[in-house]
Amino acid sequence: MESDIKIAQETKELPIEEVAAKVDLKKKDLEPYGYDKAKISWTAINRIRKNDKLGKLILVTSISPTPAGEGKSTITIGLGDAIHNQLHKNTMIALREPSMGPVFGLKGGATGGGMAQIIPMEDINLHFTGDMHALTSAIDTLAALVDNYIYQDNSLNIDPDRILLKRGLDVNDRTLRKVTIGEGSKFNGIEHQSSFAITVANELMAILCLANDIDDLKARIGDMLVGYTKDDQPVYVKQLGFEGAIAALLSNALKPNMVQTLEHTPALVHGGPFANIAHGANSVIATNLALHLSDYVLTEAGFGSDLGGQKFMDFVSKHLDKTPDATVVVATVRALKYQSLGSTQDLDKENLDALKDGFKNLERHMNNMRSYNVPVIVLINRFASDTDEEVTLLKKLIKEQGIPVEEVRYHDIGSKGGVQAAQAVVDLADSGKANLKPTYQENDDVKTKIEKVATRIYHASGVEYTEKAEKEIQELEKLGKDKLPVIIAKTQFSFSDDKKKLGAPTNFKLHVKGINLKNGARFIVVTTGHVLDMPGLPKHPAALDIDVDNNGKISGLF
Ligand code: ADP
Repeated sequence: MESDIKIAQETKELPIEEVAAKVDLKKKDLEPYGYDKAKISWTAINRIRKNDKLGKLILVTSISPTPAGEGKSTITIGLGDAIHNQLHKNTMIALREPSMGPVFGLKGGATGGGMAQIIPMEDINLHFTGDMHALTSAIDTLAALVDNYIYQDNSLNIDPDRILLKRGLDVNDRTLRKVTIGEGSKFNGIEHQSSFAITVANELMAILCLANDIDDLKARIGDMLVGYTKDDQPVYVKQLGFEGAIAALLSNALKPNMVQTLEHTPALVHGGPFANIAHGANSVIATNLALHLSDYVLTEAGFGSDLGGQKFMDFVSKHLDKTPDATVVVATVRALKYQSLGSTQDLDKENLDALKDGFKNLERHMNNMRSYNVPVIVLINRFASDTDEEVTLLKKLIKEQGIPVEEVRYHDIGSKGGVQAAQAVVDLADSGKANLKPTYQENDDVKTKIEKVATRIYHASGVEYTEKAEKEIQELEKLGKDKLPVIIAKTQFSFSDDKKKLGAPTNFKLHVKGINLKNGARFIVVTTGHVLDMPGLPKHPAALDIDVDNNGKISGLF
């Protein structure tokens, strides 16, 4: 099969107006970025979200990711195409924007693969409509304004060593995890330690994805905790008056971006927080808009169901105009064999024992998602090397748990590769059986929330807190912020906080190392294990394979 980029480049795109017309968007509703991308105008957003229409929401999540690949984005896109083009239903896809840093690091974008992709994939994976650049600028402008305030005035007496805001860059650069700024002459500012996180990990990205409109965006930016004064008082952005300028920098980026799939299904691609360190879903504005424009909306939550899936159900859903009607758990034979073998070698060879043993990972994911009281279906993303015996065994194991299952080949043949699956998903979403039951109650305090997620979703035996985390919890209580939702930052590779524990580990504790208030995003980030918010590049970065010819044609992107 040809490379993803070649397939994408050989596909004739429809003008974006024609794609938008499929969901009754008019030319005047669009702010085109060239021929094949557009932002939706505020006038249109405000008009559409007042209408009575509310489509069915289908959440796509998966088993624990492995180097063998699960294909969540591919399945979300293929399923959207199948519902749109094979079942002829009014459908939209709402996905996250890829972070550019990892595109140059490890292979694997966020635009799907094979015959199930969103296009123009080079643009979407690189600069797209500039949202990530706007965010990076906003993050660094805010950091610079705070440092300048301390240099020029500092009447609030902010302690430069207790600034919590990080700088940002959409580049994987491990050298910037810890930096000293303001070195040299006193005219260079106050010398202190600072640090960079990748743009998508910044609170401003979460805020962009959660804000309802520009007023909400501004209010949330104003509520961001900057740090503490020398006498231990919290300082919020609004005390310094920077929220208007930062909101102005982000106002264009807050509008969702419309693109299309290879089969011309309309897709909104907007906002991209990671699911291991943030809440892991595309913007609330985009998903709500899609719900008001179409009958079926497919959206994806990052990494496995223990990360993005849990966060979507317990947190993101509360911001949407409706909660999910059905959950799709994506699984592959290869990744389940990996869960047993712990190695990518020999995944092409039939191995029924490894599959049976690795199934415990899927079993836990699907039963966890079922515990939310939203109907679950498993889609097996079939790879060419899977044998019929393996697929038959996997289907049997899933059915024994009372969960429906279908096999799909969207990657290889597009929407025709899973018409029956699309019908099964639509039937499930139409069944009216969903009645979301969250893992924790809003009123639970922070430790109760963490413990409920740790024991019910991760299946940990308990939670251990470092002294630092205990102190930070006390600080939260003092600020009256200990009832906010928790976003647990954890490795994506295991249910536990140890990435080496594959399968369905038991008898482990979750180790909580830090508690960070994201007051503008209105959640608490709970850090566990060794999660980094600034990735590094591997020994052979994907950048070595990326090139561009004299006609501007890019190659080597997946
Ligand atoms: P995820 O969203 O789970 O990270 P993606 O959908 O981005 O996964 O897919 C990861 C990679 O795996 C992509 O390069 C895609 O082309 C490839 N892939 C997905 N499904 C298949 C399949 N059935 N056969 C071969 N390759 C696949």
